Amino acid sequence: MERHPQYPHLFESLDLGFTSLKNRVLMGSMHTGLEEEKNGFEKMAAFYAERAKGGAGLIVTGGISPNREGWIGPFSSRMSTSKHAKEHKIITEKVHEAGGKICMQILHSGRYGYHPLVVAPSAIKSPISPFKPRALSISGIKRTINDFVKSAKLSKEAGYDGIEVMGSEGYLINQFISLHTNKRKDEWGGSFENRIKFPVSIVRKIREAVGPNFIIIYRLSMLDLINEGSTKDEVIILGKEIEKAGASIINTGIGWHEARIPTIATMVPKGGFAWVTEQIRKELSIPLITTNRINDPKTAEEILSKGQADMVSMARPFLADPELVIKAKENRADEINICIACNQACLDHVFKRTRATCLVNPRACYETELLPQSMTSMKNIAVVGAGMAGMSFALEATKRGHHVHLFEKENYVGGQFNLAGKIPGKADFNDSIAYFKHMLDKNNVNWHMNSNITIEELSKYDEVVIASGVIPRKLILPGIDHPKVITYPDLLSGKKTAGSRVAIIGAGGIAFDVAEFLTHDSSGSEEKRFLNEWGIDPSLESKGGLLDKGPEKFTPPRQVYMVKRSLGKFGAKLSKTTGWIHRLMIKKADVNQIQGVDYEKIDDEGLHLRSGEKRHCLKVDHVVICAGQVSNTSLFDECVVAGLKVHLIGGAREAGELDAKEAIREGTELGMRI
Ligand code: FAD
Ligand code: SF4
Repeated sequence: MERHPQYPHLFESLDLGFTSLKNRVLMGSMHTGLEEEKNGFEKMAAFYAERAKGGAGLIVTGGISPNREGWIGPFSSRMSTSKHAKEHKIITEKVHEAGGKICMQILHSGRYGYHPLVVAPSAIKSPISPFKPRALSISGIKRTINDFVKSAKLSKEAGYDGIEVMGSEGYLINQFISLHTNKRKDEWGGSFENRIKFPVSIVRKIREAVGPNFIIIYRLSMLDLINEGSTKDEVIILGKEIEKAGASIINTGIGWHEARIPTIATMVPKGGFAWVTEQIRKELSIPLITTNRINDPKTAEEILSKGQADMVSMARPFLADPELVIKAKENRADEINICIACNQACLDHVFKRTRATCLVNPRACYETELLPQSMTSMKNIAVVGAGMAGMSFALEATKRGHHVHLFEKENYVGGQFNLAGKIPGKADFNDSIAYFKHMLDKNNVNWHMNSNITIEELSKYDEVVIASGVIPRKLILPGIDHPKVITYPDLLSGKKTAGSRVAIIGAGGIAFDVAEFLTHDSSGSEEKRFLNEWGIDPSLESKGGLLDKGPEKFTPPRQVYMVKRSLGKFGAKLSKTTGWIHRLMIKKADVNQIQGVDYEKIDDEGLHLRSGEKRHCLKVDHVVICAGQVSNTSLFDECVVAGLKVHLIGGAREAGELDAKEAIREGTELGMRI
């Protein structure tokens, strides 16, 4: 067979003996929230079928519980009756019609469940659920194993090509393996051999029940990132036992959910955990999948070509672009809508119990609902502003055949997203800009750069879309024009540089980003720095893969202060799944947080603060203003007065801070219906 010229390893088939996979890309498991929705199965079928059509070698569904105790939340999805199997058939049929293969993930949440029926090896509450679990009895353990087996048999009945046993991320199986959560004195606790009996029995009994020609993936926790986690030797022993028990493939699990170390957020280097799979792969003989922060075919190919794994798993990248595999195969990688690892529309939604989607692709999980409408007539449309809102609108409208003229006052596109791309860890944001630019060129949008469009010119178009974004809010304060004062756009764009002592006024998302920008240490290799900064043991020999000496203390390049008027936690409004990381990073960088103060003035001495009767001067070289933003609507107001047919989208409609999700969604929706 001919090898793919650019991605020879990625597009190699994988022979599992009884079946083969057409390439080395797994679409990893993601809970989308569709599982629990009305008509959820039709929606999930459309969601997975698009990804199968887009070329994924194998798909794994979001986690489905084998019984009620294993629910993630009350009444979440379960596979324990023939009725459930029948419902799932709609998914498997659609995926097979699209030429794909799909496995169902069986996930028992154990003490991570968010409901009163939770069980665990021992009655120890987890830090991420308010419900204290009941310790399983010996007969309860045996019943749970049988429920896993029944669930696997039913998934075969439903037409799945296999199952994935979720043995990582701190869920029930992991809870049995670790002394952190397993304090049992019977044959299911104590020695490591006893603690791994639970996963090994599950895999062995499933294999016996489903026969040889059914894929069994076991997600093995290779790096627990908790104090009483497994050592490398223990991971290898378990991997070998799982192999013997009849698994076809081993997938990599990194970090328990309760671990306070980022594993998939933006600051994790690309492919930043492939080295873990590589070490374990040397000791095992079945194929191994690696995972976490692999978001483009180049990174995936590099991992495979270095022999770090047999397959790569990408989950969120398939939300961002269902066709990522086929685009790579057809050498159209520059047409891939890249996942920027923000979590804002996927994991953050799931944690809030709303449907997942994607910041850069609002169609994700809305495949049956968000569709381009048929066009009644072709229109000439003017768009003002080539930020994310304007570009996403223009892309959908040009794709439908409208003539779109995009007016941008700068000589570059992307608006504020360019500033986001300067923040350490957010470089992928630049790939999003490049994607939209490329797709607009391909669809022949009419660019008007360095434009100063007037209302007279706009009145020549059938419709006008104002996407002129935001401008930083100006503070009214004595000394605001002092040379010490820097706006965040001037700082991040490189127009101005900050000295060694800096105060940031503000405590929102942009202020946190600016603090990370100012305190970032860019010396040495990114991968090494990440491991040291978070205390991860690259030899994997210590328990849980955590360095005994803990995270390395680092000296930030400058002393930074963050000041705000209100009282309360800094960054309280940051997102659920990543806010804790940003707060920790600021703490590690010794950023001094001062709250409940009034800003009196800025002068040669520094920033003068007042709290009640107390006055204090922060003797800083510069003061960076991150005091929010206001919508830039002057042109919109003129359009309204002139009676033009005008639409307002993105930051120009509502100025939030980190709100590209709304900007892109509004642009896409309007572009699909105008
Ligand atoms: P803008 O990005 O402001 O774009 C407006 C465009 O219109 C600009 O290109 C501007 O030059 C142009 N324009 C204005 N007036 C005219 C005119 N009269 N004629 C022609 N052109 C005009 N959001 C997130 O969701 N997640 C993040 O992690 C995130 N991080 C960020 C980090 C930083 C440091 C910053 C500054 C922002 C961040 N954001 C983030 C916010 C995000 O960048 C904005 O929400 C998003 O860019 C809004 O898009 P927009 O198109 O509405 O506006
Ligand atoms: Fe990736 Fe962000 Fe989309 Fe989630 S919301 S899939 S992290 S781009």
